[in-house]
Amino acid sequence: MKIGAPKEIFEGEARVALTPDSAVQLQKLGHTCFVEAGAGHAAGFEDSAYAAVGVTVVEGAAALFDAVDVVAKVRPPVDAEVARLKAGKTLISFFYPAQNKDLLEAAKATGANVIAMDMVPRISRAQKMDALSSMANISGYRAVIEAGNNFGRFFTGQVTAAGKVPPAKVLIVGAGVAGLAAIGASTALGAITYAFDVRPEVAEQIESMGAEFVYLDFEEQAQDGAATGGYAAPSSPEFREAQLKKFRELAPEMDIVITTALIPGRDAPILWTRDMVEAMKRGSVIVDLAAERGGNCELTKKDEKIVTPNGVTVIGYTDFPSRMAAQSSQLYATNIRHMMTDLTPGKDGVVVHNMEDDVIRGATVTFDGAITFPPPPPKIA
Ligand code: NAD
Repeated sequence: MKIGAPKEIFEGEARVALTPDSAVQLQKLGHTCFVEAGAGHAAGFEDSAYAAVGVTVVEGAAALFDAVDVVAKVRPPVDAEVARLKAGKTLISFFYPAQNKDLLEAAKATGANVIAMDMVPRISRAQKMDALSSMANISGYRAVIEAGNNFGRFFTGQVTAAGKVPPAKVLIVGAGVAGLAAIGASTALGAITYAFDVRPEVAEQIESMGAEFVYLDFEEQAQDGAATGGYAAPSSPEFREAQLKKFRELAPEMDIVITTALIPGRDAPILWTRDMVEAMKRGSVIVDLAAERGGNCELTKKDEKIVTPNGVTVIGYTDFPSRMAAQSSQLYATNIRHMMTDLTPGKDGVVVHNMEDDVIRGATVTFDGAITFPPPPPKIA
């Protein structure tokens, strides 16, 4: 089959869904690869690098969509892109079908099959295609880099002829994929790192990475947040109170706070309140990775960086993967390539869209002119 990536249209989006490396792998599956001219430029992949590995570079999105059977994209399609889909074509991209009902209807009406990378079931077998995780990993790392860029001091402690520098203290709130990546980056830079999560099972992971798990003064120190399928559920009012009390104690001590707490299907919980920000030292930095869903910090402004009157920087950017576009494109393109591997069982360039396969079924949101979202729960783990 012919597979190709257009240039992303979303303003400021620097990622691309096909890299020269992923194209080489796709060719080994028997596919022919295409890319829109300039699609990889912002991520550091020039047209010549694609051409050098046998990818056909075409001018303009219209020509790209016409040329291919499978369109690989990063962002959900915009109207102009949906208009270029039709029966017989497959689109693979982030899609967020629950939040994009109209888009889903529009895609269905074209007759194209749509595979939503955000709907890949989070089971062991599908980890290689788990683009939510690969992008969250980058966001967590980049949050620490962004914090460092706005923090006027070292992360690590130093004793030099010019004086003694204490290590920075970093608190990571939420230790899912992004939070664990942030812990890794923070400890690697030498900061004293603390982390908190409502899921007690992550304490061991946090400690094994060299950070300190923040326990609450809660009954038998049991963090509740009754988890559902590995995800967090909303906390009880008593638990939330205990959590906020602990954060109020920590706020004056922390130099950097990175928040990543999310609960599926809800706005992000407010966990870092205005008074906590006001209690922080001048020069401290908060990076709110939950900004897209309203933010964990009461003062976060989506897509903005603000500095409060007491000199605390609050960063609410939502484009962290795009800020590391070479890395994120490489990982995302690899996720797509693995999806294509499962869609090409014969390694013969023939796509078999097997709706009996849990992973393919779970991620497919339109198929043969019908909406196939939400999927049935996966049978395997
Ligand atoms: P997420 O982005 O939904 O949430 C981030 C973190 O915030 C979670 O760890 C959650 O527990 C935490 N959180 C929620 N409310 C909080 C609060 N009030 N205070 C502090 N923390 C709070 O999570 P995610 O990164 O998508 O990961 C969710 C789960 O899925 C994890 O258990 C992860 O290990 C698991 N996972 C499994 C696979 C797989 O098996 N293939 C892949 C990725 C993730």
